[in-house]
Amino acid sequence: MDLKSLDRLHIINTYNRQPETTLLLKRGQGVYVWDEQDKRYLDFVCGLAVNNLGHCHPQIVSAICQQAQQLMHTSNLYYTEPQIRLAERLVKNSCAEKVFFCNSGAEANEAAIKLARKYGKQKKGEAFEIITAHRSFHGRTLATVTATGQPKYHKGFEPMLPGFRYAEFNNLQSFADQINDKTCAILVEPVQGEGGVYPATAEFLQGLRHLCDEYDLLLIFDEVQCGMGRTGKIFAYEHYGVEPDVFTLAKALGGGLPIGAMCVKAKAAEILAPGEHASTFGGNPVVCAAANTVLDILLADGFLEQVKYLGDYFQQKLAQLSSPRIVSIRGLGLMIGLEINGDGAKVVSLCQEQGLLVNCIGGKTLRFLPPLIATEADFDAAAEILQKVFTAFD
Ligand SMILES: *Cc1c(COP(=O)(O)O)cnc(C)c1O
Repeated sequence: MDLKSLDRLHIINTYNRQPETTLLLKRGQGVYVWDEQDKRYLDFVCGLAVNNLGHCHPQIVSAICQQAQQLMHTSNLYYTEPQIRLAERLVKNSCAEKVFFCNSGAEANEAAIKLARKYGKQKKGEAFEIITAHRSFHGRTLATVTATGQPKYHKGFEPMLPGFRYAEFNNLQSFADQINDKTCAILVEPVQGEGGVYPATAEFLQGLRHLCDEYDLLLIFDEVQCGMGRTGKIFAYEHYGVEPDVFTLAKALGGGLPIGAMCVKAKAAEILAPGEHASTFGGNPVVCAAANTVLDILLADGFLEQVKYLGDYFQQKLAQLSSPRIVSIRGLGLMIGLEINGDGAKVVSLCQEQGLLVNCIGGKTLRFLPPLIATEADFDAAAEILQKVFTAFD
């Protein structure tokens, strides 16, 4: 039986894959992936902001192979060097003091939610409520999907977890209105990803910082998608002149391997005590060796400046596209949304035919998450395909 039919038979259908249009990918190198017919695609999805350094980056592959031959897994009953080094470097390059490792974005946010609840208990008696934003995305576990301010993700799984309130993104007053004696934290993405690529304004994040200071709340930033160089800084919060008390990472941190991290400032670094939270695979030596290499590359001279330059370059290219369908272009660095008036899924499939992988969210926003190692020529090629597709669209 062919593989796509086998998938239909044996994989639970949570991803709505279409056998006619969903590609079966065989290999990747740099900015490209190849399908089973050996057709090449320029990959501007990057495994949903995971393969930020492209596919099979030789330094990452080599770090993984080397570590896999030396020590693959130990559990957190023991120390391992790659994990300790990774924590040291995350702390050195951020506002955080300490780190907890897990395996995904949802788990990192789950850890932050538990930390916030315990903080609320210790500091404020019975405070356990967390305010999150409409249009946000924080994961699919029961707590993180409750934190996700999009009713479509709640449907069918009610009752949701108690202790979450929602406010309007980029509207400080809306957040202020939700604060009460039971509030322990505010959780937002500095750039909303899955909700449609909406960057926060500086006034908004700075205002949240003031509110959190005033009411002794933890300010938690979900940097799972916008972190790790995607916006031209290692962490998106660096654009805003604001430091969170807690931020979460995953996606691109492991260079293609699954890892999550909750990074915590001194203020809350001692809230969780031994035995209160854990993960069997968390901070596994192989994924940490990969993540250390990701940091080597991001921190190399000039790398982030180049990301910033390329972000401007591609946004300019997109602004030059001519189509009555284009409604707006939003983004920060190389995290870019192009909202259209029309069927986004159709644009995605026309792009795919032309050898460009892009993603569409909410039916109308094309989301571009190109590799940070792409060149101007790659962005020129993508823009050319997009122009062709938009021209054919009408
Ligand atoms: C993808 C994502 C998550 C969830 O990460 P998983 O690894 O899929 O659990 C959480 N927050 C944001 C902002 C994300 O983009």
